Amino acid sequence: MMTLQQASAQLSKKEISAKELIRSYLDRIAAENRDVGAFLTLCHEKALQKAEEIDSRRMKGENLHPLAGIPMAVKDNFCTEGIPTTCASKMLRDFVPPYTATAVKRLEDAGAVMLGKLNLDEFAMGATGEYSAYYPAVNPHDLNRMAGGSSSGSAAAVAADHALLTLGSDTGGSVRLPASFCGVVGMKPTYGRVSRFGMIAFSSSLDTVGIVTPTVWDNAMALSVLAGEDPLDATCSREPVPAYCADLSSSVAGLRIGIPEEFFTSDLSPAVQKALSSVIEGYRSLGARLVPLSLPVMEDSLSVYHILSSAEASSNLARFDGVRFGARGVGSTPEEISRSTKERYFGSEVQARTQSGAAYLTSEHYQTYFQGALEKQRFIKSAFASAFGRVDLILGPTSTCEPPLIGGFSRSEKRSFDRFTVPASLAGLPSVSIPCKTEGVLPIGFQLVAPAFREELLFRAGCAYEREVTSHA
Ligand code: GLN
Repeated sequence: MMTLQQASAQLSKKEISAKELIRSYLDRIAAENRDVGAFLTLCHEKALQKAEEIDSRRMKGENLHPLAGIPMAVKDNFCTEGIPTTCASKMLRDFVPPYTATAVKRLEDAGAVMLGKLNLDEFAMGATGEYSAYYPAVNPHDLNRMAGGSSSGSAAAVAADHALLTLGSDTGGSVRLPASFCGVVGMKPTYGRVSRFGMIAFSSSLDTVGIVTPTVWDNAMALSVLAGEDPLDATCSREPVPAYCADLSSSVAGLRIGIPEEFFTSDLSPAVQKALSSVIEGYRSLGARLVPLSLPVMEDSLSVYHILSSAEASSNLARFDGVRFGARGVGSTPEEISRSTKERYFGSEVQARTQSGAAYLTSEHYQTYFQGALEKQRFIKSAFASAFGRVDLILGPTSTCEPPLIGGFSRSEKRSFDRFTVPASLAGLPSVSIPCKTEGVLPIGFQLVAPAFREELLFRAGCAYEREVTSHA
C-alpha cells in the first residue's frame, strides 16, 4: 500500500497522473465499499474533473503543493457545498450545505482531490461505527470486526486504501480509537489548532478536527495545511504554525517520555500489553528517557466527558427541531413537532445523550453535575500540566484491546472504549494514535500526548518509531 508521501513523489515526478491515481481509488471504492462501508457519498465526476485540472496545471510547469492530486475524503459531519452532509443521521438525510468547511477548503485549495463523504456514528456520538443510521463502516482487516468510532469511515477508508488522507472529528477519541483499530495514524490536534468552521458541532468545548493518514509524515503534511487562524472561527487559535515536516528526521535521544502507571491497567489484553512493551523498548533503544509517573486522570475522565459532552450536545442539537433545521416530524404545536421530529429522526444513542445532557443543565442538577464536572476537568488539566513539568511526551495505549467483533456490547461498555483517549480531550491537548508493530493480524495502536501546540513533538517521536519499525522489518 502506498503512503501519501510516496504518491506525492510519484505525482510530482509525473510517474503517474492525478487522473490515473484518482481513477484507481474510485475503482477500488466501487468494488469494495459494499463490504467496508466507509463511504456514504461519492463525488465521482467532480473528483475526476479536479484530477484533470491538477494534471494540466502540472503539465504547464506550475509548482504544485505536495497534496495536489492526493485522494482525500472527509467525515460526513463537515459541510461541503452542494454535496449532501448527513452526519450519518436520518435527521439530515436531505441536507445539502451552501458552504464548505474551512478544513475541507484548505485541503482542496492545496490541490487534494475529494473523493466523497465518510461514514460515522450518528452526529459523531459513538465508539464503534455501529450507530450510523445508514450502514456501519467495518474494519478492513477483518470485516466482522468494528472499525471503531465515531470516525469509522475516516479510519476504514485509509486502512482499506480507499483514500490517502481523511478528515475526522475527535471530541473524546473519535479519530484515535478507530485509527488504533484500523492500523492507521490518527491525530487530534490541540483544541483550537484547526478551524472548525463548517464542522457540525457535537460538543463545542471539546470538538477538534482530526487527521487520518497511512503514516506520521503524511499526517504532519496535512496539519501544515490545516492549522492556523481562521476569521470564520473565533475559537481558532492565532498561535503561529510551525513547519511540521521540517524536523521529522531528528533523533529522539534525550526526549523524556512519561509512562503513567494509571494507563497500564490489568485489563489491557495480553496482545496490547506485549505491543506496548515493545514500543517502550523501541523508544528506549532510540535513546529516549522513559520516566514512570502518576497521572491521576483515569478515575473521573469518562464521567466528566459524558456530562460535559452530552450537556453541550443537548444544546447544539436543539436546533434540529423540525422547524429551524432538519427533517420534519408531525404535530399541531411547535412542541409536538419538535418531539416527533427528534423521536423519528434521531437514533437511540443521540436521543439518550441529548436527553441526559438536558437533564444535567436543569437548575436541579446543574450545580452537582455540570459544575462538578467542570471542577474535575480543571483537576485533570492540572494533572497533565504537572506531568508536563517533568516530561516532554506521555505514552500509553489507545485502547485496551484489538478491534472487537461487531455486536455484543452494551451501551455503557461501548462508552468505556474511550477510557484512554478522553483525558487528553478534556485537557485540550494534542494526541496521536500510531500503529504498533505486532505479530498478529489485528492492529493495535499506541497513543502519545504532547503539551498544547506541541504537535511537532508527536510527529518527531512518531516518525522515529516508524523508522525504527521499518529498519527492523
Ligand atoms: N466515542 C466517544 C463518544 O462516544 C467520542 C466521540 C467523539 O470523539 N466524537 O462520545
